[in-house]
Amino acid sequence: MVYSYTQISQYLRCPRSYRYRYLDGWREKETRAAMVFGRCFEKALGAFFCREDSTAVLFKEWQAYRDAPFEFRKGESWDRLFHQGVHLLETFARDNRIRIRSPKQNLQIKMLRTLPGGSEFVAYLDALGEVDDQHSVIDWKTTTSRYSTEPGGLLSLDPQLICYSWITGISEVAFVVFVRKHAPEIQYLKASISEQRRQEFGRLVETTIHQIEAGHFVSHSGIRFPQHGCVSCPHLGLCLDNKEMVNLNLIRQSGASNLDWLDELVD
Ligand code: SF4
Repeated sequence: MVYSYTQISQYLRCPRSYRYRYLDGWREKETRAAMVFGRCFEKALGAFFCREDSTAVLFKEWQAYRDAPFEFRKGESWDRLFHQGVHLLETFARDNRIRIRSPKQNLQIKMLRTLPGGSEFVAYLDALGEVDDQHSVIDWKTTTSRYSTEPGGLLSLDPQLICYSWITGISEVAFVVFVRKHAPEIQYLKASISEQRRQEFGRLVETTIHQIEAGHFVSHSGIRFPQHGCVSCPHLGLCLDNKEMVNLNLIRQSGASNLDWLDELVD
């Protein structure tokens, strides 16, 4: 079996949701403009580091979805997202805080780690490079609101960053957050992950896989403010036995797990 960060985090959020997705094959339909835009934006970033015209690449990639029946948030449109993307690319070039040497090798890197039971863990890193001259694992994020940074050190608890530090053995990690708000902004958020946290994450992966392979898929439902876990869950229609909701949000496929890395691009 091959596991990924997305699988482990989905199981920890709600084992029932994990079962719907990874055993029964129910995937969320790709209707959110922000998710697809994030992927186009990442291709433009790749072009930037390869010294190509990143704005032209963003236009070409995003143009393919001009007439797609996406759900846009209030006040958003195809044009607005494109202009925000251009603004962010220009700001990023001006900031000049990230260096990626040999971009063909150091962007979208596949990492594999063999686990004690013989299963494998796969992760796709966005980049390996320097953030303000510090060698780091880098993860790009596109979002509509700033990441919270208080209290200090909060980011060292982020499970995705801990996972990337665990699989690479590199302690320095960073999120570069492209915030698509009225005045677009980029956050360069750095953290240092300790060896103890990496080891804890390794144990968490092992115990989670043990639970999955033992077939434990009880639901972790939650609808109390402020953690509306079920309300934002794509599988809500299945739990409520609401066919209309299922048809609107889900598509049933097999072999979905090899596309997990796409989810790591989302907010
Ligand atoms: S709707 Fe709630 S209980 Fe059902 S799969 Fe999603 S998170 Fe779990």
